[in-house]
Amino acid sequence: MCATCGCSPHATAAPHTHPHADHPAVEAAHAHSHADHHHDHAHASRLIRLEHEVLARNDALAAANRRGLAERGVVAVNVLASPGAGKTTLLEQTIRALRAEMPLVVIEGDQATEFDADRVRAAGARAVQVTTGAGCHLDAAMVARALDELDPPAGALVLIENVGNLVCPALFDLGEVAKVVVASVPEGEDKPLKYPHAFRAADLVVLNKIDLAPHVAFAHERWLAAARTAHPGVDVLSLSAKRGVGLGAWYAWLRSRRAAVEAPTA
Ligand code: MG
Ligand code: ZN
Repeated sequence: MCATCGCSPHATAAPHTHPHADHPAVEAAHAHSHADHHHDHAHASRLIRLEHEVLARNDALAAANRRGLAERGVVAVNVLASPGAGKTTLLEQTIRALRAEMPLVVIEGDQATEFDADRVRAAGARAVQVTTGAGCHLDAAMVARALDELDPPAGALVLIENVGNLVCPALFDLGEVAKVVVASVPEGEDKPLKYPHAFRAADLVVLNKIDLAPHVAFAHERWLAAARTAHPGVDVLSLSAKRGVGLGAWYAWLRSRRAAVEAPTA
């Protein structure tokens, strides 16, 4: 899935030599020697170690991001969702609603294109587009570079739209004060049970596109039960970014997160 993050057992987080022609050959034959077994175990533990190192390095950079942001009284929110859940539409609405009230900048993560950065710029926010190529998540180093470029003023809100994917973005701390998972009605009621790690990591779960519920026979109570199973007690907001329904509670949540971070007195 991801060629850079070590989140998949076949990820190439770092170059390594592999004397087998390929894994399937080894597994299919099932007649490999004790030496092969030994090698497989060594290989697996090497990958786990690499994954560990990648995440540890990321966590250190994320902590540095968090310190730097806190010193300037800047609040970053990391928005996670599947592709098409409506992250960018939610950000566009948020920018239009709050830009007169607070400085607001955006970091957009996608594998390719500037499309989403262009959309949020048109809505009125400065934005940096990070393109990850084969990578399927933002990491703390990418965010550090984007923050250098954006140089958000004191008291700013930084909205980070992660790459559309509910798997490894949940593993990578970026230095945010909160993670928001956006789910949407057309994705169905079971999404929280299928991607429990993302929902468990969320400080807030937003259910978007509630205007579509009647058209897709969406059972709201079933979705809510799934979200509460994945993350007992998690805060949930239901809204339609496109139709402008339920956005007041979302803005209030953002305001409260921002108010919780003390602005520097200097
Ligand atoms: Mg987007
Ligand atoms: Zn990834």
